[in-house]
Amino acid sequence: MSLKHLQVQYISGAHRRLRRMGIYVHVPFCAKKCAYCDFYSLTDTSAMDDYIKALAVDFRRSRADLAGASVETVYFGGGTPGILGPKRLAWLLKRLRQSFDLTPDAEITLESNPATLTCEDYQKLRRAGFNRISFGVQSLNDSELKRLGRIHNSRDAAQAVRDARRAGFENISIDIMFGLPGQTEESLLTTLSDVRELAPDHVSFYGLKIEEGTPFHDIRDTLDLPDDDAYAKLYLSGAQKLCDMGYTQYEISNFAKEGFACRHNMKYWKLNEYVGFGPAAHSFMNATRYGITRDLAGYINAVRNGTLPERSEEELIEPEAQIREYVMMSLRLADGINRMVFEARFGQSFEKVEEFFSRISKGGLAVRTEQGWRLTMKGFLISNTIILKLLEYIGK
Ligand code: SF4
Repeated sequence: MSLKHLQVQYISGAHRRLRRMGIYVHVPFCAKKCAYCDFYSLTDTSAMDDYIKALAVDFRRSRADLAGASVETVYFGGGTPGILGPKRLAWLLKRLRQSFDLTPDAEITLESNPATLTCEDYQKLRRAGFNRISFGVQSLNDSELKRLGRIHNSRDAAQAVRDARRAGFENISIDIMFGLPGQTEESLLTTLSDVRELAPDHVSFYGLKIEEGTPFHDIRDTLDLPDDDAYAKLYLSGAQKLCDMGYTQYEISNFAKEGFACRHNMKYWKLNEYVGFGPAAHSFMNATRYGITRDLAGYINAVRNGTLPERSEEELIEPEAQIREYVMMSLRLADGINRMVFEARFGQSFEKVEEFFSRISKGGLAVRTEQGWRLTMKGFLISNTIILKLLEYIGK
């Protein structure tokens, strides 16, 4: 994205014709709830048909909000969007296309679980226009998968990737987790070696977090989780292995073959605009961030009654907060923080940022780039602390 575009997008909301957006569609259904998951999803799938009809109405109604905007990315996330099956998904994507202006090369991602769809389903989805698929593989070690409460095993995962490839998906991502109960460095590296055989184009590599309200939280003391040092070691050795396998780390938790960075997620990290549909979906438009309440029935009823779905949160992101968010997001990315963007976007000197990074670079936590500074792999590990200290230092 050019500097000029950033300026237009953030300084003048009037230039609507230049808006480039992402669309997120939340699909709140799963076959079974995993023991660690706090995403909004239900195992009762009886409302699937009512839900997609409500989404289609919501798309149509939102046309005016996105008038003049080019939609460059669409992401069906969940939950398990694949559980809707190819017929409903194709129908929904068609309604979405009828309502919004998708660019010819739009990235259209579907999240799914490895054990949810067949090779024929992937073919139908590909024909319907989905061009990227993201599988929640998490591990290729069957006992780790079992402890997580996943419905698939390593064979299902390998089969799903092969089937999707055979069906014509040229952009396949898989999620892999570290810091799992009982996971060792050896078992993680074995999983990653097996990932190499599957040759996905993109890997999301993220650590298990024990979230309140999940079954794992209730039994956290019995889970045999790695301590902080072991957790750090798992991250560093896993990330290094992925780099050795030919993936480029472009974000703290994301690795891709050249040209396969997730364009949709880049919109979040670059603070570009996106709109989310469905319960638990979030949006960022016109400098306002808002989320839809996690209530499927409430969402369907609101759309049926012609009212706006209830928002669980809504916040105008003031310029000061935009600086904080820009710093937080840019330091997640391997490109790091960019002097020209920082100065042009916020009209502030980069001097204090420069001073801060010059200091911490001595400890190997950050390195200078042509455009500014970025965190190293070691820096990524403690990025939250570094970001807080930087914001304190620059007085935000
Ligand atoms: S499949 Fe994904 S969204 Fe569904 S319960 Fe498991 S982790 Fe959560």
